[in-house]
Amino acid sequence: MTTPLQLQSLVADRWIGAAPKQALRSAINGRVVAHTHDEALDFAEMVAHARGPGLKNLLATHFQDRARVLKALAVFLMERKEQLYAISAHTGATRSDSWIDVEGGIGTLFAYASIGGKDLPSSNVLHEGPPMRLGAENHFIGSHVLVPRRGIALHINAFNFPIWGMLEKFAPSFLAGMPCLVKPASATSYVAVEAVRLMMDSGLLPAGCLQLIVGGTGDLFERLEEPDVVTFTGSADTAMSLRSHPNVLRRSIPFNAEADSLNCAILAPDVTADDPEFELFVKEVAREMTAKAGQKCTAIRRVIVPRKLIGAVGAALKARLAKVTVGDPALEGIRMGALASHAQQADVAEKVALLAEGNMMLLDGNKGFAPKGEGTDQGAFFAPTLLMCPKPLANERVHSVEAFGPVSTLMPYDDFDEGLHLATLGRGSLVGTLATKTPALAAHAVPTFAAWHGRLLVLDREAAMESTGHGSPLPKLKHGGPGRAGGGEELGGLRSVKHFLQRCAVQGSPTMLSAVTGEYQRGGAVTESDIHPFRRHFEDVEVGMSLLTHRRTVSEADIVNFGGLSGDYFYMHFDDVAAKQSAFGQRIAHGYFVLSAAAGLFVSPAPGPVLANYGLENLRFVTPVAIGDTIQARLTAKRKIDRPPRDDQPAQGVIGWDVAVTNQRGELCASYEILTLVAKRNAG
Ligand code: NDP
Repeated sequence: MTTPLQLQSLVADRWIGAAPKQALRSAINGRVVAHTHDEALDFAEMVAHARGPGLKNLLATHFQDRARVLKALAVFLMERKEQLYAISAHTGATRSDSWIDVEGGIGTLFAYASIGGKDLPSSNVLHEGPPMRLGAENHFIGSHVLVPRRGIALHINAFNFPIWGMLEKFAPSFLAGMPCLVKPASATSYVAVEAVRLMMDSGLLPAGCLQLIVGGTGDLFERLEEPDVVTFTGSADTAMSLRSHPNVLRRSIPFNAEADSLNCAILAPDVTADDPEFELFVKEVAREMTAKAGQKCTAIRRVIVPRKLIGAVGAALKARLAKVTVGDPALEGIRMGALASHAQQADVAEKVALLAEGNMMLLDGNKGFAPKGEGTDQGAFFAPTLLMCPKPLANERVHSVEAFGPVSTLMPYDDFDEGLHLATLGRGSLVGTLATKTPALAAHAVPTFAAWHGRLLVLDREAAMESTGHGSPLPKLKHGGPGRAGGGEELGGLRSVKHFLQRCAVQGSPTMLSAVTGEYQRGGAVTESDIHPFRRHFEDVEVGMSLLTHRRTVSEADIVNFGGLSGDYFYMHFDDVAAKQSAFGQRIAHGYFVLSAAAGLFVSPAPGPVLANYGLENLRFVTPVAIGDTIQARLTAKRKIDRPPRDDQPAQGVIGWDVAVTNQRGELCASYEILTLVAKRNAG
């Protein structure tokens, strides 16, 4: 790239910005890569656009529609990922660093598309059951629904992962139906701008659902309202100042922060220098110090080891770090690139100087350090640096000062609980690793460790075979930690979509709650189906359509035959004396017989639109079925999940059927939901 890019903000679906302001320099050679723009943004217009057309367009779709958009967007971006890799290189990232940002970000879109497709309804009301009975006769029940907040999501991102950081926030909030205002960190905003341009070029996003702010947020915080949400990644200090903005406090606007933390890795006392866990531990620490040049919110800053092994761990780490070649990632063999900006380089140097006071410098990579590559003397490089703190209980600084680069401090403990205590001195972290080979030590450590962490990796030789590593937040697992780590929570599968929805408890009759939730609630009014519901195609089944079956009297022969068939001769079914002495006072039918008999009552045997029964949920055997009891089943369409078409399958959807098996006294014997795949009318 020769001519610097002129960055633009995306305001009300228009790109704005022609006058250069701040020069953003390549982390590799200091050349100007881009300029931010000088034009002031009209935040009133941005907010009005998001609240108006943005919200309207998003709410004209439902969860399933939006999941499909996310998938298509992920495919679109993946096909153009090289454009993103190319621009990401200016941030000093190696190809594997950029992989985390580019493909990690796109992978998060795929993950949320899949979560939405599997777990969310074709509506904008998510029922969070099960409902609870609030009256003795089941005329009054209560449950929870989650609905779009009808506000906007402001996402403020850090400089280190301009794409992943944006997409991991965008995906769940878009799925939840919130228009997003994204503010990337200025230093690497040129990467975020490129990603947003591609997202808009896809033509997949409804107008107004995404706007981009290059530069400051002006009076935006004043314009936030009660239904809005702010998410933030960056320093603890900025998090504190923004979350305590009077308008945020006054209106109780949810503020989710993910801030810097001093994550640790602990080597348990059972591990010797000859154990595989020792090597795994050292490898993990070295990887976390050098991946993305240590600019990961999850990087290991504190390395807590038994005193007797501190020399061995120090030597092994130094040996590994010495092999890390630092320089321009475009060159062959370079393992670590630069920090993202010159400001970051100065900041890390300053923090290392603070940490060095009273501690030993085990590896001062920056002495006589010359990164490889042309022009890199003007780049923002910093060599791996390892310190050793001999008295970590007496040194507050090593637990509070974060050098956001390839820097860690080694510290000894005398007994394991002291080691765990050292971990807690970080006052809340995103992630911690415990390397041990002893399950009892893991069980002992995790309760203490977990209280101060958002995620834990227990590393041993077995897990190492497939471990995704200390530093990788996964879309389906929670990311975010307590205290210093910001106290927020991101990712975690459906949990993070729920952060962008409003939960409300709803009370009323089962009939009303069926209508409200879009799911049949037991006890609510049903529509007796004139033809067997299993003979209807997906589109023709309505929630609440129901079939009351014929009856069947259970005989001793049924129990004997079922025992013979299944091999289940449990005393309750076959030992008259023991059964009489039991709480039931008599022999009873197998629960699985009741289940099978109910299927015999409600299936429609001839070929039809029901393609498969793929399981059941929430099975409970409530009242036992004795010899001579007469059972009957009610099958009611409980919920429908539309499935996007796939080339390899006939068009179909999922229908969950509520099944209630009752006896001659009307008592509930078995209760469950069966899940079926049902063909659509036009299925091939
Ligand atoms: P900051 O907290 O300064 O910035 C984070 C984001 O907040 C950026 O987008 C920044 O924008 C924005 N911001 C800053 N001030 C305001 C404000 N008053 N109003 C609105 N937005 C604002 O962090 P840095 O990026 O400077 O990094 C500093 C330190 O944060 C690092 O050294 C590291 O310790 C930590 N950090 C933690 C990360 C994590 O993932 N947990 C990631 C990155 C950094 P702008 O860039 O335009 O100022």
